[in-house]
Amino acid sequence: MSKQEEKGKPFYITTPIYYPNANLHMGHEYTTTLCDIFARYHRLKGEEVYFLTGADENTEKVVRAAKDANINTKDYLDETVSGFKSLFKMLGISYDQFIRTSDEEKHWPGVIEMWNRLVAAGDLEKREYKGLYCVGHEAFLTEKDLVNGVCPDHGEAPQELTEENYFFKLSKYSSEIKQKIETDEIRIIPQSRKNEILALLERGLEDISFSRSADKVSVGVPVPGDLSQRIYVWGDALTNYISALGFGTKNGDLYNKFWPADLHVVGKDILRFHAAIWPAMLLSAKLPLPKAILVHGLITSGGQKMSKSLGNVIDPLMLIDEYGHEAVRYYLARYVSPFEDSDLTLERFKAVYNADLANGLGNLVSRIMKMAEVNNIKALERDIELFKKTNLYEQIDSYFVEFKVNEAVDSLWSLIKRADNDIQTLEPFKTIKVDRKKAEVDIKVFLAYLIEISIKLRPFMPITAGKIEKLIKENKSPEAPLFVRKD
Ligand SMILES: [Zn+2]
Repeated sequence: MSKQEEKGKPFYITTPIYYPNANLHMGHEYTTTLCDIFARYHRLKGEEVYFLTGADENTEKVVRAAKDANINTKDYLDETVSGFKSLFKMLGISYDQFIRTSDEEKHWPGVIEMWNRLVAAGDLEKREYKGLYCVGHEAFLTEKDLVNGVCPDHGEAPQELTEENYFFKLSKYSSEIKQKIETDEIRIIPQSRKNEILALLERGLEDISFSRSADKVSVGVPVPGDLSQRIYVWGDALTNYISALGFGTKNGDLYNKFWPADLHVVGKDILRFHAAIWPAMLLSAKLPLPKAILVHGLITSGGQKMSKSLGNVIDPLMLIDEYGHEAVRYYLARYVSPFEDSDLTLERFKAVYNADLANGLGNLVSRIMKMAEVNNIKALERDIELFKKTNLYEQIDSYFVEFKVNEAVDSLWSLIKRADNDIQTLEPFKTIKVDRKKAEVDIKVFLAYLIEISIKLRPFMPITAGKIEKLIKENKSPEAPLFVRKD
């Protein structure tokens, strides 16, 4: 029996856990907002949703960032995580849990249980690991961390160092995972990313180092039964998706209800971890696999990756400050593709804001509500009843099934456009003077339009949707424009 049939449709969605070694950027903001839209949508449809986000805290990056900021690691983490949470609050992110991998009570038991299961499967084995060790960092670096072969922070070439640590037999699972992705037992969206991971699996995965010598890393979960080693990032970070649900603890209610995940949302840079390493761990541990992984692209600016040196970084907080968080949610939902790289510039943001929100939605709401209020014409009771129902969502289900959140918003704005055009054609503000009966019918139709728009707007712009609903129920025009035009 599937999870759905057993429990009556729960929906479990996750963001990746974010590194608290810097503030969140637009990419994180997009991932989280996208998840929030899915979470709200499924809740509105009456499903029981669990939405998980969190922070990946057991990393030397964090230790270093704390050192640079001259505070102890724990205080540093608490401060950064509270910054994440306040950004999410501003954006209206309706997560159910924020998991922190430094949480020894919540997270570590799941990691230990996962490790023990991999051991039981015979999939962890001590071998020789060769890595690039930076003395200044007191940590292993990867080729990607180096600039011209030198550690950019310490100006020194790392030493090639050999240590014994535990390897996970990832190679063993290449063909099984390949088959599960080919048959969509794990759906990878979009197709281009599915092809990419299938090509990787076709070449075969290599076994990977799964622990580090405890004398070289200062954070992380100790390997059960071998305190000379700590569990490296994969076993620790990826396991958050089940540890957060109580896996490995006595309280497995959430785990039993919500695992396997319906949707992991990830950026394309972490596709391999989620579509190869994570399923292999789950197979080895004899646990169910996630149903789908949505892989979104980067947000570029002016056609280039955002970077300090190019000076094209757009700060999420600055955008929220200038335009309000609902406008930011709107832009991300409609103009960032869930599948491909998308561009964002301040000029484009402003143009979209003025055209779609100030002149579009905001203006439509003002016009219709003004006609209704001034002429004392109320929405039909049967239309107002729609606020309590969920059948309107059926009209946008097909977009959500295909993960095309942006097209769902497109469809909503065609409705806004149609309403605008109909007002131009019917001119009820003129007819009212000569044929009140006809104008009354027309205005009620426009109020019905607004009702439909505000209901469908809920997953994307919950606050705006609520404001429109309130205006309709009170039959009032907004005192101030919903979106003030920016010059
Ligand atoms: Zn270094």
